[in-house]
Amino acid sequence: VTFERRSRGPDYAPTALEPEDPGAFRAVAHRLLDVVLDDLEDRRRRPVWQPIPAAVRALYHEPSPRGPAAIEALGDQFVATMLPYGSGNTHPGFMGWVNGAGTSVGVVAEMLAAGLDANLGGRDHMAVEVERQVIRWAHEWFGMPDGASGVLVTGTSMANLIAVLAARQRALGPDVRRDGVGVHRLAAYTGTSAHACVTQAMEIAGLGRAALRRLPLDGAQRVDLAALEAAIAADRAAGLTPFLVVGSAGTVDAGAVDDLGALATLAAREGSWFHVDGAFGALGVLSPEVAPLLAGIERADSIAFDFHKWGQVPYDAGCIVVRDGRLHQETFASPAAYLRREVRGLAGGAPWFCDFGPDLSRGFRALKVWMTLKHFGTERIGASIAECCRLARRLAARVDAEPELTRAAPVALNVVCFRVRGGDDANRAVAVELQEAGQVAPSTTTLDGHIVLRAAIVNHRTTEGDVDTLVEQAIAAARRIAGPA
Ligand SMILES: *Cc1c(COP(=O)(O)O)cnc(C)c1O
Repeated sequence: VTFERRSRGPDYAPTALEPEDPGAFRAVAHRLLDVVLDDLEDRRRRPVWQPIPAAVRALYHEPSPRGPAAIEALGDQFVATMLPYGSGNTHPGFMGWVNGAGTSVGVVAEMLAAGLDANLGGRDHMAVEVERQVIRWAHEWFGMPDGASGVLVTGTSMANLIAVLAARQRALGPDVRRDGVGVHRLAAYTGTSAHACVTQAMEIAGLGRAALRRLPLDGAQRVDLAALEAAIAADRAAGLTPFLVVGSAGTVDAGAVDDLGALATLAAREGSWFHVDGAFGALGVLSPEVAPLLAGIERADSIAFDFHKWGQVPYDAGCIVVRDGRLHQETFASPAAYLRREVRGLAGGAPWFCDFGPDLSRGFRALKVWMTLKHFGTERIGASIAECCRLARRLAARVDAEPELTRAAPVALNVVCFRVRGGDDANRAVAVELQEAGQVAPSTTTLDGHIVLRAAIVNHRTTEGDVDTLVEQAIAAARRIAGPA
């Protein structure tokens, strides 16, 4: 071991904010590390989710603390009041939303990153090189050319916003940063299944959500290409410029993947920016079984995706990669700042990550991403993604074999939507009952105007048994709620 414990120098003198008794502090710190690792190893022991008791909530309405509290007491409070009342995504039965499940490697990486306390906005230090490495790997997966760029962000909501701003920059030119958008003649296109943050990105970019055409879907829950062509033609006839096409690689409702190749061709023909929201689905390129579904993603101008979903990196870790790195930089960098950058010394190392998005201070997200990818290797991460898809197909087959359940959408990836008898209210009630029972937690969504149960399998801890439990408990709950079949 190269990182053997050094003994403290004889002249250790704690500052105002360092432990007075470092030995005692470490003992508690080591125990707390064990607490979280134990919990992840045996997460099934606790319910997926349970309601927070009023008395526990009330603990967090106290006045701001004037005096100190021992780390031991704070650790106890974490264990008693936070650990048991999480949102459930680390539990194998969590299927409600598209959330990652974290790993022990992620825990260690977060701890190390906190110790380094690096600010990755810029300057010349190794943490920045680690993020550059991660971005280069992403370029490799998606076939991005030399000159492509990228940056880690909070999540795909921010990544989609960055993409819309880059597309806006290309359509309106650099003056948009000085003059604002004013009255514009731009139009963007996506499916009704696109994530709500795409609409929000149009709003924040000052283009307005009215400029986003949300097109109907085909039978496989993908953007209907004929409807897209018609909308573009109508906008052209009205003198508008189609500047952006947003494809989804994995929709949250049904796990559908748009025909990315067809969207790329159409966008190229129209001179539009082609962006892919691949929040969870894009990492499917790491699996030889899933990758063919994503064909066309390598032609995108930009791709937004999350490491905190199918990459299982602890929250938060999203990413945007952009084909035209110069344009990406021009969208955000302040010329006054980056033209003054030093060539040597600590203030060197340009371009800086703060030139590729709105954040100046940025944490060392890259370490947990780098460590997760290095520790498991992309093949194993790809295999765990493919396993989620296999479990989804198994769940779909179980649903299809049960006369009391009806499947509501085809299964392209990892999301299975189905209904119990009894209409919207019954389906809603079944979801809540299962969530409160604490073994498996599906959610609901709306498909074709109806509430359906949704199981999104994004979790490397989910097993065949969990999928079977979902089927059995959904049937049992529906019988209680809607009466016997
Ligand atoms: C989760 C998700 C988003 C939003 O990503 P965040 O990381 O939560 O910001 C956007 N699009 C899709 C398809 C998603 O699944």
